[in-house]
Amino acid sequence: MITDAPPKKANREGFLESDRIKRSKPPPDGRLLAITKSIESAMKSGTTADVRRACTEFLETASEFYKVQTCGVRVLAARPLRVRENWSTELFGDYTPQTVLIRIWMRTAVRKEVTSFGTFISTLCHEFCHHLDFQRFGFSDSWHTRGFYERAAALYHCARGTPPKKLFWLPTSGGRWRIDWPRTNGAIKLGANRQPDGVSNS
Ligand SMILES: [Zn+2]
Repeated sequence: MITDAPPKKANREGFLESDRIKRSKPPPDGRLLAITKSIESAMKSGTTADVRRACTEFLETASEFYKVQTCGVRVLAARPLRVRENWSTELFGDYTPQTVLIRIWMRTAVRKEVTSFGTFISTLCHEFCHHLDFQRFGFSDSWHTRGFYERAAALYHCARGTPPKKLFWLPTSGGRWRIDWPRTNGAIKLGANRQPDGVSNS
């Protein structure tokens, strides 16, 4: 995971604010976890429509909690050949603020590999956090800042019922940050109930 470079002038304030907001309380009860499990079974044995229904329920529940309008979701069997890249790092989904719509695909384009369940949920949470940036925080854009990734990770762990983990960052060129994986993973090992997960949204 690597952050976007800070914008030069316009939007710089919004970017810095996005970077600062590390905590975003996820829904406290087990509602999301239950819906996530229904997404998992739909992915295993259901149709694409079943997966979409479960994703819609997930987004409605999360939107209600954050008091924002919900967003639509389209679940696609394969990554479209032509993806309008709002953000260059989106490998498994995207979000369009104008149409308030998430698209998420179950297969990657090049190798036709099936997206793993962990990656699918991670992508759903990631795209929903783009939605929150516009609808909840009122940002004029949605950047991949350290704060963004922290908020997406918190939602992911809530959805999976896994313990939240601390992310460690290393500065890299152009004012960007990348995850310090050895340190981040080392911190997980120290915690109880360590569970492997599929957070791989780069
Ligand atoms: Zn993104």
